[in-house]
Amino acid sequence: MTSQEVKALTGQYIMNTYGRFPVAIERGEGARLYDFEGREYIDFTSGIGVCDLGYGNPVWADAVAEQAKKLNHVSNLFYTEPAARLAEILCRRTGMSNVFFANGGGEANEGLIKLARKYSFDKYGKGRATIISLNNSFHGRTITTLMATGQERFHNYFFPFTEGFRYADANDLDSLKAVAGDDVCGVLVELVQGEGGVLPLDKEYVQQLQALCREKDWLLLVDEVQSGVGRTGSLFAFQQYGILPDVASFAKGIAGGLPMSGIMANEKCRDVLGPGTHATTFGANPVCAAAGLAVQQVLTDAFLEEVQAKGRYLREQIEALNLPCLGKTRGLGLMIGIEVKEGWSNGDVANRLVEAGLLVLTAGDGLRLLPPLVITKEEMDAGVAIMAKTLAQ
Ligand code: PLP
Repeated sequence: MTSQEVKALTGQYIMNTYGRFPVAIERGEGARLYDFEGREYIDFTSGIGVCDLGYGNPVWADAVAEQAKKLNHVSNLFYTEPAARLAEILCRRTGMSNVFFANGGGEANEGLIKLARKYSFDKYGKGRATIISLNNSFHGRTITTLMATGQERFHNYFFPFTEGFRYADANDLDSLKAVAGDDVCGVLVELVQGEGGVLPLDKEYVQQLQALCREKDWLLLVDEVQSGVGRTGSLFAFQQYGILPDVASFAKGIAGGLPMSGIMANEKCRDVLGPGTHATTFGANPVCAAAGLAVQQVLTDAFLEEVQAKGRYLREQIEALNLPCLGKTRGLGLMIGIEVKEGWSNGDVANRLVEAGLLVLTAGDGLRLLPPLVITKEEMDAGVAIMAKTLAQ
């Protein structure tokens, strides 16, 4: 097929819910993608933080192929090896106690919210089900996680939404205390607000928040759907913040390009969800879990240190360009936000870059870069060169 044919077929038969760039991708290699006519793109998006090992990675592809030949799916009514091994690795590397596997980020956050409410119900009974989340956050597109999202524009059309959410300002404990009450069971945060603009929370605030949650017996719920699995230069961002959440969700990069997500609970919360309280047909799928094991095999501690170094390098190179439309960079590891200066639109800037052969994302009113974690210096330099050439005026 040609790119044009793929776009026409999509327009006809797939619901028009995404504002897509005018590009159809056929294949990829490393951090490079190619359209149906063979045009090359440098990828600073990794499928919105999913393809952490890039494209065509042999360790990942062989693991997926071997598991697909052996056992594709058998349901959670039986035991399987890949998911059990992946859960063990995640717990050993983080200090968390056990895992529930699901399929996407919004669904993982649904599980995290259910766990928080049940923890409180079991211990204190009804009436203590409110979750405080942060303004400018993003937690998903289900009816409940839209409401967990602290942005008014998402609380539209789909009424009635799930009750029991209130919002506080990021990095402001007084704002949180002002909306708290006897009905609170948990506080939900992204340590680096992703969709909101790549805005890392202050470390001191996060540590004080953990202390307050412990004092009040509110669960500290950390959404690592975007920041997890090596993206910020540690396996999970909470490790850099020096905290251990009660429950953390993950998704996106966990299986390097196959749909998988989950939640991890600490020792206090390990038995809250018992038989019959939570389930999902595809959760812990053996092929996805085998892909997740391949990701863990690559993401050694030394590799994660390199992610931090690559993040620093890429930010330095971009800032050194001194482009008229771009300001300071921010973020952690290879989760990078770039200020788009007043008078310029981030959508326009992104479109110009994509047209010139560099795939980037927007977030808040800036640009967002989530390159594959395996990106090389040469690939980063090629992307920066496109920025320099395209955005000089
Ligand atoms: N939570 C965060 C922090 C996210 O960034 C996202 C997606 O961007 C989600 C939840 C929702 O994940 P999904 O689209 O996989 O449902």
